[in-house]
Amino acid sequence: MTVRDILGEAHLQRPTVSFELFPPRTPEAEASLWPAVEQLATASPDFVSVTYGASGSTRTSSRAVVRRLITGTKLVPVAHLTCVEASRAEVTDVIDEFLDEGVRDFLALRGDPPTGVADWQPQPDGIRYASQLVSHILDVAAGRGIPADQLSVGVAAFPAAHATPDGRQQALDVLAAKQEAGAAFALTQVFFDPEQYLALVDDARDAGITIPIVPGVIPLTTPRRAYRLAELTGVALPPGLVSRLEGADDGTAQYRAGVAAAHDLAQEILEGGAPGLHVYTFNKHAAALDLLASLGLHGES
Ligand code: FAD
Repeated sequence: MTVRDILGEAHLQRPTVSFELFPPRTPEAEASLWPAVEQLATASPDFVSVTYGASGSTRTSSRAVVRRLITGTKLVPVAHLTCVEASRAEVTDVIDEFLDEGVRDFLALRGDPPTGVADWQPQPDGIRYASQLVSHILDVAAGRGIPADQLSVGVAAFPAAHATPDGRQQALDVLAAKQEAGAAFALTQVFFDPEQYLALVDDARDAGITIPIVPGVIPLTTPRRAYRLAELTGVALPPGLVSRLEGADDGTAQYRAGVAAAHDLAQEILEGGAPGLHVYTFNKHAAALDLLASLGLHGES
């Protein structure tokens, strides 16, 4: 069953639960990843996505994580794939590698161009936009005789960018192009205002975009992590969250404040009709599981 099938059915009974992992960069991080995955698996997630570095920087390690998820767990992996800085042949090779591993669910992303490059251009035969990568993945799979109904390709959506006056139409046009190319679902970037997600979904439906849009949620349990995330994504932290984290007395209180803030956000978007929650885990299980427990979607961590 692909993620498209899961999202098509599961949310009728309950919201889907999914997690994002990233490939570990050190032996220590590798060693702590798998116990965390074992814990996360207790929440019976509907799928688990694995990030892929821009410029193919994690090609081997992302593939290794996905392979172990397939061979060593019952979890359904979604392989992120980026195309920035890669030739079409390289992208095709990576798609082939993932298909060889048994992957049938992808998240097609462009990836961020290297920092400091003002006018980024793809390689002459490269892929410029994520929507084109969606088509390419589907074409490569079709070329190998994999039926379209056995594959699902998701894409990224951006509630905070959609909330800006200049970004709104662009965000909708880009998401529509991704759907047109064959995307079956979208996972969102982080956001902290529930209205941003709900407005994106409303506007998307008005624009004829029908694919499920699953909100990405992060329990931010330290101020440092919150600042780092804002820096990486460009999504501004709400002052309320910052003061909840900064005002907490110690690490335990910060942890609780972070999980509580994520709970409040998640509760509101689930009540607003979100089909599920995609939890960014930073390869740690406790905050993700405590968030789900607080929502009645899983037992305590
Ligand atoms: P695109 O849709 O290609 O958009 C890139 C830019 O081009 C945008 O400015 C868009 O407005 C513009 N654009 C798109 N189509 C057109 C068009 N037809 N005409 C004109 N302009 C257009 N990055 C990683 O490196 N690895 C990961 O694993 C990863 N996972 C992510 C997971 C999620 C859920 C999210 C939300 C982001 C993730 N990212 C990841 C970051 C992502 O790669 C960047 O945000 C990237 O800048 C945009 O990716 P995209 O797939 O939306 O690209």
